[in-house]
Amino acid sequence: MTVASLTAAVQQDTASHGVETAAVEAVNAAHRRALFKKRGKIHPKRVNGAFRMTKWAMMALTLTIYYVTPWLRWDRGPGAPDQAVLIDFPGRRFYFFFIEIWPQEVYYITGLLILAAVALFLVTSLAGRMWCGYACPQTVWTDLFLVVERAIEGRRNDRIKLDRAPLSVEKVAKRTVKHAIWLLIGVATGGAWVFYFTDAPTLMGQLLTSSAPSEAYFFIALFTATTYTLGGHAREQVCTYMCPWPRIQAAMLDEESLAITYRFDRGEPRGPHKKGDTWDGRGDCIDCRQCVAACPMGIDIRDGLQLECIQCALCIDACNEVMAKVDRPRGLIAYDTDLNIARRQQGLPTRFRFIRPRTVAYALILALVSGVMLFALLKRSDLDVSVIRDRNPTFITLSDGHIRNGYTVKLLNKARSQRTISLTVDGLSGAALTAVGLPTADDGSLQVPVEGDDLRPVRVFITLPHELVVHDSMPLSIVARDEAAARPIKVQSVFLGPKP
Ligand code: SF4
Ligand code: SF4
Repeated sequence: MTVASLTAAVQQDTASHGVETAAVEAVNAAHRRALFKKRGKIHPKRVNGAFRMTKWAMMALTLTIYYVTPWLRWDRGPGAPDQAVLIDFPGRRFYFFFIEIWPQEVYYITGLLILAAVALFLVTSLAGRMWCGYACPQTVWTDLFLVVERAIEGRRNDRIKLDRAPLSVEKVAKRTVKHAIWLLIGVATGGAWVFYFTDAPTLMGQLLTSSAPSEAYFFIALFTATTYTLGGHAREQVCTYMCPWPRIQAAMLDEESLAITYRFDRGEPRGPHKKGDTWDGRGDCIDCRQCVAACPMGIDIRDGLQLECIQCALCIDACNEVMAKVDRPRGLIAYDTDLNIARRQQGLPTRFRFIRPRTVAYALILALVSGVMLFALLKRSDLDVSVIRDRNPTFITLSDGHIRNGYTVKLLNKARSQRTISLTVDGLSGAALTAVGLPTADDGSLQVPVEGDDLRPVRVFITLPHELVVHDSMPLSIVARDEAAARPIKVQSVFLGPKP
């Protein structure tokens, strides 16, 4: 083969390979187009009705709680913060009205999270995504941002027109005002958040005089940006793509769980309907798509239950308005169950069963965790004691033959005032308790002063005559007593010695 023919062959091969590569890339691009749908902006229509009213009420309630809570005061006495709800990182404390949680008691927070999760499971198994539709911050803030959008840009059709219109003075003015108000809402949201972490009136004063700590400005800026982005721009995409809950919640549902349902058994066959036409031989759905126009997720509930549906019930209100206009019964879209649709098709009456094995199980877990937490709170003492025995050496033999073990006793005084704790040993006859620099009372107890709101570690020694060491490991208790405490606190430990 000559060089010329070889080059031609290579060029031909390269050319055909190039064609092949282009074909593969075209196929891949087609796949990509099929997999990734371009987002179309959603312009939800405003509706009126019972569920919209409920959502307004929930919005007012949740926003009031969020913005007002840091300003509530709670008198805890001198020297203590008087903010009712405060996450005090420098003081390592969480205050919630009369409850004060120390870092050592983080299990209360764990318990609260478990309670919240099980309550969410219970509500979901009873009535679907109630949380998402009514109380989730993403839903509430998106609704708030939409209120602003409607107030400035008008109704649904006006907003669609404005989106499609070329740039004009009016469009720029409306957009500027809308985004400025969105940013203000973001600032208020971020501002309220930082008030939970420090004394709100003090921080407000510092913010007004530009003397607040730099962390405050950083977190206000961060939450302003996230609120503005998630509530104003990302909106339904947060629920569809970012939130894991839609994927998980299906595990809590069964055929008797309430869900926003298009009653296709009543609605189909759908089609336009003119005044005076008969309703015989057709369904109640007039295919007006008002339910789709009202949906903040941009979906059609008539396609069945979908992952995107946050169960906000606005399509129920939209359809009820339509049903009233065409003089048909309300509830073509309603809270219903799969089982009821099947029962109606069989001519059986509808049935709602709230007491089911899974709802009972969730309710029992909820009651159990609540009971344990309540019991722990009621039994909570303002004195905590822990004992750590020395591991190396486990014991030492003194020159007079006595055996001595060392321990570190940690006394946590949760009261605000100083108190003296008396330490004794129980269950080890003949034992002497001593500590360097601490007085011993006539009854042999150690007297340990502990400052208010403080943790004091104390090195103590327990000494036993050699002849009383009858085992190489003998159980004992270190007992902490305080006049103010209702009962002494006993901590189990052991005394180690040589094999007898
Ligand atoms: S609003 Fe009601 S009648 Fe109109 S399309 Fe939706 S389900 Fe059908
Ligand atoms: S389908 Fe209905 S309930 Fe679901 S998100 Fe849309 S409007 Fe809300």
